[in-house]
Amino acid sequence: MEKSENNANENKTSLNFLEQIVENDIASGKHGGKVLTRFPPEPNGYLHIGHAKSICLNFGLAKKYNGKTNLRFDDTNPTKESTEYVDAIREDVKWLGFQWQEPVWYASDYFEKLYEFAEYLIQKGKAFVCDMTAEEMSKGRGTPQIPGIESPWRNRSAEENLDLFKRMRKGEFKEGEKVLRAKIDMTSPNMHMRDPVMYRIMHAHHHRTGNEWCIYPMYDWAHGQSDYIEGITHSICTLEFENHRPLYEWFLDNLDISENRPRQYEFARLNLTYTIMSKRKLLQLVEEKYVKGWNDPRMPTVSGLRRRGYTPASIRAFAEKVGVAKRENVIDVSLLEYCIKEDLNRNASRVMTVLNPVKLVIDNYPEGQTEQLPVKVNPEDPESCFKMVSFSRELYIEREDFMENPPRKFFRMAPGNEVRLKYAYVVRCDSVVKDDAGNITEIHCTYFPETKSGLPSDKKVKGTLHWVSVSHSYEIEVRLYDRLFTEPEPENVSEDTDFKDFLNPDSLKVVTGYTEPVAIGLRPGKSLQFERLGYFVVDPDSNEEKMVYNRVVPLKDSWAKIEQKG
Ligand code: ATP
Ligand code: MG
Repeated sequence: MEKSENNANENKTSLNFLEQIVENDIASGKHGGKVLTRFPPEPNGYLHIGHAKSICLNFGLAKKYNGKTNLRFDDTNPTKESTEYVDAIREDVKWLGFQWQEPVWYASDYFEKLYEFAEYLIQKGKAFVCDMTAEEMSKGRGTPQIPGIESPWRNRSAEENLDLFKRMRKGEFKEGEKVLRAKIDMTSPNMHMRDPVMYRIMHAHHHRTGNEWCIYPMYDWAHGQSDYIEGITHSICTLEFENHRPLYEWFLDNLDISENRPRQYEFARLNLTYTIMSKRKLLQLVEEKYVKGWNDPRMPTVSGLRRRGYTPASIRAFAEKVGVAKRENVIDVSLLEYCIKEDLNRNASRVMTVLNPVKLVIDNYPEGQTEQLPVKVNPEDPESCFKMVSFSRELYIEREDFMENPPRKFFRMAPGNEVRLKYAYVVRCDSVVKDDAGNITEIHCTYFPETKSGLPSDKKVKGTLHWVSVSHSYEIEVRLYDRLFTEPEPENVSEDTDFKDFLNPDSLKVVTGYTEPVAIGLRPGKSLQFERLGYFVVDPDSNEEKMVYNRVVPLKDSWAKIEQKG
């Protein structure tokens, strides 16, 4: 490519291909230098992380070039759509941190205009009313190699077509009895150009237009014209619509629209390992009760991620890291997990919580004594304040942190081993108490007063454990979430399996944990790091009696490992 003299083009290499297009358009004065993008969801489900990617892209692009973004609901299929979905989508876009240009638009705002456009095409002999059944049409379509068969109704006069179309609108025909089709080319190698349906009859109630209409525009007919009506400059969509583009251009050409034509650009949709993204399939999980709702913390929906403890900033950072590709690919879900860990590592306070407790008794520590140990709330934050943690004779530690017969290199607690209790003292394990079944009920140890944290001490130990004081800790419910699927690509395992065959039976485990007082009474959405365990967020199910925490992610970082390998 030739070197451009335009300043805006100087750092071309760091721009993605859409940014390059926009910069070129601005430089050449196309659309008067304006940028107007849109996010056009169909309100037939909740938004998922793929939509979030598209939102970040559309709103991000407009923001970068002083443009605006419209939110337009593609509500052309009344039987699958509802205001519940409309409201949820609005909330999610806002939560992600974006503001659309008011007002919110709906394809249904343009039903009348689209109808007029359709009549215009009929008058020009470019659209016709067809009486073929859906089955006949599908049979007659042919394949990319075999030309389709022209409809016997294809050569009705414009007059007759206009009359029939008006009567379709009036409700004189039954569903499936007639459709309006574009008259293009039944031999085109592009199947979308084989006289596609523009309108179908549906005697259905629409969530906005009620019973006003009984013919509804097809997505392909409504979409491009809606972009034109709104003056969208850059219509960005995913790759599967690339071969719809000639149809969109055909509609605009035949409507004799030459000024301010929107132009469509396609990018690769986001695919994530261990995740399904289709709204239809997500709806199945909800309806068949594999999850507790659209906002179940295991769902890849924006509302599920929010409840899981993801922040808007972490999702935006993820979208940025994924970038904009022109070819299909699958992103490792651990990149998403990495982004929330980065965010929470900077911003989440630390607390000690024990999830699988066993009692630790310090035999030489005075009974009834309590010490207050000062601890930084967040060591990653240079301005972090301190809190006090209570230490006493009886503590809980994690059962996994003790082994009676440890292998070599087990640096946690074992008979005779010395370990540090974080922020407190070094202790040595002396003995254990067991119940009749042989389960350990208590571990007894000795502490060394001179090893108090902050004091200089000669004792060097290899392991540091977290703990809570039995009488100073609070019980909480902890929901340990894991990936929803056991296979990285549950939809593509084999031809005779279904994605639901690979649901992870252990995607949720509920346990009782013991935590510090500072973790009690926090509002839903507040995140903490449970030291050595992971990040956790307060769930909206929490109430005065019981705090509920969701695990956001464990601390172990699989992404960093992958990156190192690469
Ligand atoms: P799904 O197949 O998941 O139901 P959809 O494409 O039918 O998705 P729409 O409501 O039509 O859902 O999508 C709104 C916008 O979001 C579209 O512009 C679409 O291109 C974009 N989008 C949907 N899924 C993804 C994805 N996985 N990655 C990027 N963008 C997406
Ligand atoms: Mg769609």
